[in-house]
Amino acid sequence: MIQFDVLTIFPQIFSSPLKESILARAQEQGLVKIQLFDLRSWTLDKHRTVDDAPFGGGDGMVFKPEVLERAILELRAKKPLAPVILLSPQGRKFDQSWAQELAHLSRIILVCGRYAGIDQRAVDLLIDQELSIGDYVLSGGEIPALVVIEAISRLIPGVLGNKDSAQYDSFPARLEWAQYTRPRDFHSYLPPEPLLSGDHKRIEQFRKKDSLRRTLLKRPELLLKFPPSEEEQKLLEKIKTELWEN
Ligand code: SAH
Repeated sequence: MIQFDVLTIFPQIFSSPLKESILARAQEQGLVKIQLFDLRSWTLDKHRTVDDAPFGGGDGMVFKPEVLERAILELRAKKPLAPVILLSPQGRKFDQSWAQELAHLSRIILVCGRYAGIDQRAVDLLIDQELSIGDYVLSGGEIPALVVIEAISRLIPGVLGNKDSAQYDSFPARLEWAQYTRPRDFHSYLPPEPLLSGDHKRIEQFRKKDSLRRTLLKRPELLLKFPPSEEEQKLLEKIKTELWEN
């Protein structure tokens, strides 16, 4: 069971992605709990103001620190050890290994920025980690928060059925093998013979090798980051010879 507390000024953005498919089922089964908190509920003025103009001038509004402080302290009071993660293009880049680490926690607080971002003092005093989903700038942290929620949730035991198990997924270490389905003959292009053989050993061997071949061709740096086992070394030698011959 993992709980995500999400702080946002646009809770509605989350409604449909969380109501479909795997995430919907995970919540129904009580494996994942997602609570959306509207940052505006911690404002004290009539206009429910969350932002203000930046000191020094310039474009864009900035989230005020006091509203964030009230919100985050209240959420954190319920479970002091839950990390407070700010979605930010300046954060450490999110990847599968980080998702695996976070999947061990029981509660995570996600803070979604908007506009020009949030007051730096709120970042320094209230945020434990800044997380980026990639080197591009979006308009808000809501879609990044959904990315993080989905990547982590599918690692929680029981969330994926066997049908779509995460065990062989691409990342962190090896890309997944090529997949084929019916029809057998598609414009005279047939699936690789081992997959049609019904021989489980051959199928498994083919997939291991295909996985390595794709990793070598598409993402070779993963072989440096996650060094090949002895068995994989041998397969890699074969793969390189075959590539050389073709
Ligand atoms: N001016 C800021 C960007 C603000 S974008 C800067 O250049 O650093 C507005 C909000 O969108 C951010 O506060 C953050 O919560 C979210 N956001 C934008 N791009 C993101 C990314 N790549 N990863 C995670 N969050 C992002």
